[in-house]
Amino acid sequence: MDFEPKWIAWEITRRCNLKCVHCRSSSELEAIEHPDFTLDEAKKILDDIASYASPVMVLSGGEPLLRKDVFDIARYGTDLGFRMCLATNGTLVTEEVCEKIKESEIRMVSLSLDGACAETHDNFRNQKGAFDGTMKAIELFNKHSIPFLVNSSFTVRNQKEIPEIYKLVKGLGATAWYMFMIVPTGRGEDIMSELIPEKLYDEILEWHYNVEKEENELLMRPTCAPHYYRIVRQKAKEEGETFKRRNLKFSTGGSKGCLAGQLICLIDVDGQVLPCSYFPKSAGNVKTTPFKDIWEQSELFLQLRDFKSYKGNCGQCEYVGVCGGCRARSYAMTGDFLAQEPFCSYTPRKAQNTGDSL
Ligand code: SF4
Ligand code: SF4
Repeated sequence: MDFEPKWIAWEITRRCNLKCVHCRSSSELEAIEHPDFTLDEAKKILDDIASYASPVMVLSGGEPLLRKDVFDIARYGTDLGFRMCLATNGTLVTEEVCEKIKESEIRMVSLSLDGACAETHDNFRNQKGAFDGTMKAIELFNKHSIPFLVNSSFTVRNQKEIPEIYKLVKGLGATAWYMFMIVPTGRGEDIMSELIPEKLYDEILEWHYNVEKEENELLMRPTCAPHYYRIVRQKAKEEGETFKRRNLKFSTGGSKGCLAGQLICLIDVDGQVLPCSYFPKSAGNVKTTPFKDIWEQSELFLQLRDFKSYKGNCGQCEYVGVCGGCRARSYAMTGDFLAQEPFCSYTPRKAQNTGDSL
């Protein structure tokens, strides 16, 4: 595997107009200890990355549309040759915003939809009117021919609506639908008790497999459910089928379950480079160290790329190269990011033979 940075999420502000229950960055409307950086600093970071790599750059937050210069950043990135994307909660999208998205040549916008109805989505997002805001944004994106994808986050609170959300998204004109089972971090730590339990998690992934197999239009993938890559292989083998997965140009590379620090990373508003959006451990800071040095030399990233150093079942698993387990979940739940993925029910072949499963 080539460990090239293919996809970088960039927290350009920690401020947000919503207070979602699962928020990775525990955003608030004011983020006093984590102020926005200036446009000049943003350009410096983009120049630094462009001198080394050309990943998809996702302007994220908080809510990136709260920054007045968000489209100046996007334009600058586009001119440097990056494929710029925007991750928004949708509530601040207007006609004017759509025009600026087009002018700055943002290639894809991602939106969140965590319920098939206003009640569920608004409850999850802690804001009345959030669902209507997302729907309005979708209407505007369609009107302006702006390609968008939908991310849906799930806990036991809203998991019953998964099939309905899928049907809803399918009818909305989205390019892709990515479902995500919450990894506890940020505000998400408070909802540890709401995490989808292991057995149900597997059932949902099997449901996804069966639907994805028949789906020819909407691109779909469970995000950060690394053992889905194991399930797909197992099920396809059982059924004697070859399972061809379609790929989105703006995806995270897609070749493996967990890509943290391997093909993707997050740069937070303070310049810290983290393995992914849900992994609160820094590999270095782009304000003081060139991105290239962090990417190629940080101890943290080198450990994540050394699959042999993974522990427990993951360490002896024949699927470690395609799955790898969620390192952020291991970190959140055990304090050791190399520990066995806590939510995988699989016993690797090696352990089955030796009776050595953990
Ligand atoms: S550690 Fe890997 S699987 Fe887990 S949230 Fe990050 S990228 Fe996704
Ligand atoms: S044991 Fe680890 S590497 Fe193997 S399938 Fe489960 S999570 Fe993936």
